[in-house]
Amino acid sequence: MPELPEVETTRRGLEPHLKGRRIVEAESRRPRMLRRQPRERDFADRLRGRRVLGLRRRGKFIFADLEGDLTWVMHLGMSGRMQVADPGETEAPHTNVVVRTSDKEIRFVDPRTFGFMSVLTHEEFDESPLARLGPDALTELPRSRELATRLAGRRPAIKTLLLDQRLVAGIGNIYADEVLFRARVAPHREGGSLTSREVSAIRAAIRPVLEAGLKYGGTSLSDLAYLLPDGRAGQYVSRLKVYGREDAPCRRCGTPIRRSVITQRSSYWCPTCQT
Ligand code: ZN
Repeated sequence: MPELPEVETTRRGLEPHLKGRRIVEAESRRPRMLRRQPRERDFADRLRGRRVLGLRRRGKFIFADLEGDLTWVMHLGMSGRMQVADPGETEAPHTNVVVRTSDKEIRFVDPRTFGFMSVLTHEEFDESPLARLGPDALTELPRSRELATRLAGRRPAIKTLLLDQRLVAGIGNIYADEVLFRARVAPHREGGSLTSREVSAIRAAIRPVLEAGLKYGGTSLSDLAYLLPDGRAGQYVSRLKVYGREDAPCRRCGTPIRRSVITQRSSYWCPTCQT
């Protein structure tokens, strides 16, 4: 599932093809792909003829600011990816949304259709759950003391809390496991049970883990659901320390990596290094 490094890599891949460019037309072929869009036809109507002022990211969302006080929201969901293609180039299966500029097509490919797009006015945006997204895990990471305050008394597992996009936005299942390994904290620990030193260690691990993911273009797993907008695969998978490595030796101590299910998500961790 695309997380912050994959979404930021996607944003960077789209930016040169969208920033300052005018959208000629937009077409959605699956109504399901337009979520939080008050009226389905608003999507194409609002994009048509608009210039894109810039592309931002918060957590796992890409926001394209459009002239006319509109925001084009993109979320890749579980299996979505964006592709920049030339008009006439063969379409990948499950190309569900196509947005055209004067010379390129931005294609949203999403086999499982958990991703979505919408074009919202500022008022619609402020009334949507998007306005309640937590601080971005890379660019707005709260101080340790602030994080400790937010975790105080919380009963859920720290792994579950790291996935809560209201706490910090952008961390998902893969990078949460990597962060906890680096911080040497076991994923099932109650959020409120962590010492201030452990909270600091988790906070300190977030940026290096996400930046390493970004450096390698994100994590493309064997299903290749996530690819960069130019079609290349992200190369971070071979550098993962624990995620997806059940029974393989810990890269730090050699203990077999364990897989546990925490709040219905697989968690990979080292029972020796993480306590
Ligand atoms: Zn270990």
